[in-house]
Amino acid sequence: MFGLSVLVALFALLLLAAPGSAEARRQAVPFTEVRLTDDFWRPRQETNRAVTIPHAFQECEDTGRIRNFEIAGKLAEGQFEGIYFNDSDVYKMLEGIAYDLALHPDPALDRRTDELIAKIAAAQQSDGYLNTYFTLVEPDNRWTNLPVMHELYCSGHLFEAAVAHHQATGKRNLLEVATRLADHIDRTFGDDRLVGVPGHEEIELALVKLAEETGEDRYFRLAQWFIDRRGSSDREYCQDHLPVREQSELVGHAVRAMYLYSGMADVALRTGDAGLIKALDRLWEDLTQRRLYVTGGVGPSAHNEGFTTAYDLPNESAYAETCAAIGLVLWSQRMFLLHGRSEYVDVLERALYNGVISGAALTGDRFFYVNPLASRGGHHRQPWFGCACCPPNVLRLLPQIGGLVYATLGSALYVNLYAQGEASVSVGGRPVEIMQRTNYPWSGEVKLTISPDVATTFDLRLRVPGWCEAASVKVDGERLEAQPGADGYLSVSRTWQPGDTVTLKLDMPVRRIAAHPRVAADLGRVALMRGPLVYCLEAADNDGAVLDLALPRHADLKPEWRPDLLGGVMTLHGKGLRREQCETEALYRPVDDETPIDVTAIPYYAWEHREAGEMAVWIPETTALAEAKLPPTLAQQAEVRASHVHPPDSLRAANDRVEPKASGDLTIPRFTWWDHLGTEEWIAYTFREPRRVHCVEVYWFDDTGVGGCRVPAAWKVEVLQDGEWREVTGASPYGVAADTFNRVTFEPVQTTGLRLLAQLQDGFSGGVLEWRVPGE
Ligand SMILES: [Zn+2]
Repeated sequence: MFGLSVLVALFALLLLAAPGSAEARRQAVPFTEVRLTDDFWRPRQETNRAVTIPHAFQECEDTGRIRNFEIAGKLAEGQFEGIYFNDSDVYKMLEGIAYDLALHPDPALDRRTDELIAKIAAAQQSDGYLNTYFTLVEPDNRWTNLPVMHELYCSGHLFEAAVAHHQATGKRNLLEVATRLADHIDRTFGDDRLVGVPGHEEIELALVKLAEETGEDRYFRLAQWFIDRRGSSDREYCQDHLPVREQSELVGHAVRAMYLYSGMADVALRTGDAGLIKALDRLWEDLTQRRLYVTGGVGPSAHNEGFTTAYDLPNESAYAETCAAIGLVLWSQRMFLLHGRSEYVDVLERALYNGVISGAALTGDRFFYVNPLASRGGHHRQPWFGCACCPPNVLRLLPQIGGLVYATLGSALYVNLYAQGEASVSVGGRPVEIMQRTNYPWSGEVKLTISPDVATTFDLRLRVPGWCEAASVKVDGERLEAQPGADGYLSVSRTWQPGDTVTLKLDMPVRRIAAHPRVAADLGRVALMRGPLVYCLEAADNDGAVLDLALPRHADLKPEWRPDLLGGVMTLHGKGLRREQCETEALYRPVDDETPIDVTAIPYYAWEHREAGEMAVWIPETTALAEAKLPPTLAQQAEVRASHVHPPDSLRAANDRVEPKASGDLTIPRFTWWDHLGTEEWIAYTFREPRRVHCVEVYWFDDTGVGGCRVPAAWKVEVLQDGEWREVTGASPYGVAADTFNRVTFEPVQTTGLRLLAQLQDGFSGGVLEWRVPGE
């Protein structure tokens, strides 16, 4: 028999753990109560406000995304333009704008937002239905193709935008549109009505938000219903192959999966549904033990924009959609709220600092959809996409970062992320001001000033990140001999006086990370990390190439702060080796030479901001695993110039020793004369000292079927003699074959300059993937 006191304690524990009641639930401190003043997130938030929001607005206007609402609302004439789920991009942008308005009131932006909301409201049908594609293109087919069409997905993004807008401005104009649509969906779907689930999840988590904002329980029950009804088909692609409580493996489209699990966690948080929680725990383990990129990217395959088999984590072909990493942040946050363990925040932090923010350029106007972990220089951020889910997703996440920093549960205060700023929180019903001073993620030293309005007893839980092997803490200058608990937090329980200080020191050495041996792509390779940041090598810092580099295991690695580089980054430096291929096709041959080189690594999120070139996160420990470049020729001693070049295409591509797989190889750096069409153009090598040349080998760029470059109509080789360009004599035929080197020999000549004069085909441009100049 239990004693009464034990029973009372158990009962109290049950009460505290009862997920249903809001007070007993772990809750994030809203971003509106957290003011970031740091040099890492704040500049990104400011760029988001100053550049990304106006940029996205412009793109949504230019691409007809906003006009679709005007046409559906009979405010304008015309036809639907774009993809059937384009409404969602406008909603996501609106959600981000609302968050931004909450942080920084802006009357002009507020007015523009209201004008946009009026257009959205006009497009709503009298029964509450709202989707511009169906209204304009298939009015008779509403709700008839749930697996493929995205009506419920778009609705979810509208609900999220509406809740955000209501919270930010107190206005109900968008919220009323949202509730009319939610009521329509609630009337339409049900066991005795239309039974079906969305092909693209999102509405589940959005309905939970809408229920909380409006106090309308029907919306919560509808979210549950959409979750519970899954599993009646064989569609793995949208996680509809099994009832959610029976799912254990991540399958299908990664963004859909992340949104679904976030919605499941939202429901579980409020109901304590054990079946849902067990499923979430199994799925979480599957993700983190077998399917997660070191960058926090998820979903390796372009084929299904999603998951494949366990340990399948290719680097160069990694899909790792920006939206999926954002979805993982959403899911991780909810798993933390559910279980209160720091391991979830570790994953959140991994995704946030790496695979999420790599998705947006530092300038805020270019975006990655796909985030590979290796590149040959052909992968570039774009201003926008036909399928533009990612840019507005980054746009809506950045203003919310402050909301990931703190959480509370009863009389416990969690510090999950370290970022300089101030916050106002309520702990055990008492207001507490917190000040964080830190240079995180560049430094692991954090100083917290804790100021309750009056002396208050509570438990301060400092997250010790999974990457940190040694952490120490001082309270008011006195060192505490505390160790992190099983939950991963260093707990400091005391009566806090206003102005108490806590100094946390997280050791932040450079770390070499290896992957599980079943990850074939990373065998014999290491990734570099420091703090939460994953590093990469980029050509611009490493003499133009990185895929031929190795970093021996015992090479010393030193951090160096570079305020001038990429907005200010900590770089890593060490001694590496470059593989030098010998010039032979022999089956057996001497081992390739290796030459020492100073290797520089930069944070992964900051790659692809400079001249196009190779990038690698996973670096071989021996040159045997490094890729050999084409053997050098005289071309590597030359300076490259051209009549015209169009960034990100680059002059350097011509002599970077990267062997093309084909003339249409879009994965490697290229030189083109784009967008000059049908003109006569040139590219030249100049040498400091005269060189004796007798031959060139040219691999033409030709992207037939994709773009507007073709092999040239005609070309010739010229040499610089007495200050003038003259055609070489005795030239063999000038080949224009695709997919191979075109070799032309001529009478040997001594010269300081060599150039290719190309006549482009009518109406087309052209370019060069590689131009070699073999010596004698
Ligand atoms: Zn996306």
